[in-house]
Amino acid sequence: MAEDNAALLARVRQCTLCSEHLPLQPKPILQWHPNARILIAGQAPGRKAHQANMPFADASGERLRTWLGLTPGQFYNPQLVAILPMGFCFPGSGNSGDLAPRPECAPTWQQVLLQQLTRLQLTVVIGQYAQAYHLTDAKKTVTATVANWQQYWPERVPLPHPSPRNNIWLKRNPWFTATLLPTLQARVQQVLASCQ
Ligand code: SF4
Repeated sequence: MAEDNAALLARVRQCTLCSEHLPLQPKPILQWHPNARILIAGQAPGRKAHQANMPFADASGERLRTWLGLTPGQFYNPQLVAILPMGFCFPGSGNSGDLAPRPECAPTWQQVLLQQLTRLQLTVVIGQYAQAYHLTDAKKTVTATVANWQQYWPERVPLPHPSPRNNIWLKRNPWFTATLLPTLQARVQQVLASCQ
């Protein structure tokens, strides 16, 4: 008999597979429901998300919601938005930002969760780790992959990380704000309208 959704989610939330490599206790932070229409495939929760036990509970989240044109209520509605980073637990920080998602996580959990998202209309693929996983033909750099966004449109869209650390990237790539974001916001509104 197939495992029900609540049991699967509970099993993920109890995972301690890579705890010996984590700086804090394992705390898988994800948002998931099979009805979700939009998937946000990101990197890994940051320290603030870990403390709040809520994905994107930081400045990156505020910017991501603005990029998508979603209110917090819409963003945190699991029947609308699934949030599955490549690593579900905070991996720790290094000299130039957070460490990479733990490599044990995606092979353990992604497929079983993704295969139940049968109503997805849009996958937002954030940063190099998610792009390598979700875009089999991703380019060598995040910039090149994002610049090539129309190749994946309209089912998927690659984005840079919305972190304030990427402000310089945004200044250097004005086409992102001028062209990609308005198109993405219109697409999100289209998805929302289809759920009415
Ligand atoms: S990062 Fe993933 S594999 Fe590691 S303990 Fe958390 S949920 Fe489990």
